[in-house]
Amino acid sequence: MDSLRSRVRDAAAQGQALELVGHGSKRFYGEAPQGQPWVLSREPALCGLRAHEPAELYVTAGAGTPLRELEAQLGSQGQQLGCEPPRFGGEGTVGGLIATALAGPARPYWGGVRDALLGLTLIDGRGELLKFGGTVMKNVAGFDVARAMCGAMGTLGLITEASFKLMPIPQAQVTLRFDATQDDAIYAANQAALQGLPLSASAWWNGSLLLRLSGLEASVRAAAKRLGGDALPVDLALGFWNGLRHQSDEFFAGAVRAIQAGSGVAIWRLSLPPTTPVLKVPGEQLIEWGGALRWLVTPLAAQAVRELAERAGGHATLYAALDKSAPAFTPAQGAEAQIRARLKSEFDPKGIFNPGRLG
Ligand SMILES: Cc1cc2nc3c(=O)[nH]c(=O)nc-3n(C[C@H](O)[C@H](O)[C@H](O)COP(=O)(O)OP(=O)(O)OC[C@H]3O[C@@H](n4cnc5c(N)ncnc54)[C@H](O)[C@@H]3O)c2cc1C
Repeated sequence: MDSLRSRVRDAAAQGQALELVGHGSKRFYGEAPQGQPWVLSREPALCGLRAHEPAELYVTAGAGTPLRELEAQLGSQGQQLGCEPPRFGGEGTVGGLIATALAGPARPYWGGVRDALLGLTLIDGRGELLKFGGTVMKNVAGFDVARAMCGAMGTLGLITEASFKLMPIPQAQVTLRFDATQDDAIYAANQAALQGLPLSASAWWNGSLLLRLSGLEASVRAAAKRLGGDALPVDLALGFWNGLRHQSDEFFAGAVRAIQAGSGVAIWRLSLPPTTPVLKVPGEQLIEWGGALRWLVTPLAAQAVRELAERAGGHATLYAALDKSAPAFTPAQGAEAQIRARLKSEFDPKGIFNPGRLG
């Protein structure tokens, strides 16, 4: 750890920017990386599981640990991370999971990355090793610094290690399919959530609404009976949710092909109130998270997409595009911008970590 700290101190002394890289699987996300790439998954001091206490439902792992290694270990004990982090091309590390805060289909039902995170250690921009939180769910420090690292895109420090709370893999899982227009799907997903059913994922694309139920056998069976629809075969359902989670399904694969072919479309990720009506935009849409997450593949100009999201009470992130001249994230305003600037100057006064990655 000392050699990592001195590399940070040297970079700060020389004013040299560092690009923190895990596997680089999410390098496309956010603003273009800058600085000297530093591949943390190749640093032995940052790799490997430190502790897994199945009975206490927590795990601690080095930030360079591959997600597939972490999840294989958890799965062997019948456990998982509730946030279902995506693995793009099968890659991704613990540090990248926290830095991007990207979560999978279960996010609105089982919590996001910051809900799963119990604590972490990081090296700040002065080369100091700092520890926040712990391995139990409590927060004595007032401001929850560990959680501020979620979605900070590595701009506040080099995460060295993190602890997560775990959940058991549910006893039973059923996926129901319904023919539905987008309108009907938004209404049905919101209604299902209001009824307190054991929902663990929801998605609409191309005329189909899929609802996943997870939990105890009896409650899943009862909920499935109440909802109706067609139960998907287990393998098909697993393939569908994994395709969505890891963005390897046809919606995302087709969108990436269209982008690479220079068709002028971009993938947008809109966070909206779940009851927001259908967005009338050209292109394709896929809805997740009970209506709260709308993926748009559209040629619409950035300004128009941002205005649309703002009018609906949410925000839009330019997720993947050939032309990244528009800001990836919605620019922070007012008090929020001030808090972010203060966090940055507190943690990374010389601005060496991932400069510009958040815009
Ligand atoms: C220091 C710092 C600076 C940042 N600067 C910027 C910035 O300038 N601009 C910017 O756009 N982002 C900024 N971010 C945010 C960052 O990009 C995001 O955190 C990241 O993209 C992941 O999104 P999230 O944390 O909102 O994810 P999540 O917590 O998964 O939430 C994603 C969205 O989904 C919605 N959602 C989640 N769960 C539910 C639910 N149950 N029901 C309904 N809706 C739900 C929420 O509205 C939320 O907006 C910053 C973050 C940090 C920590």
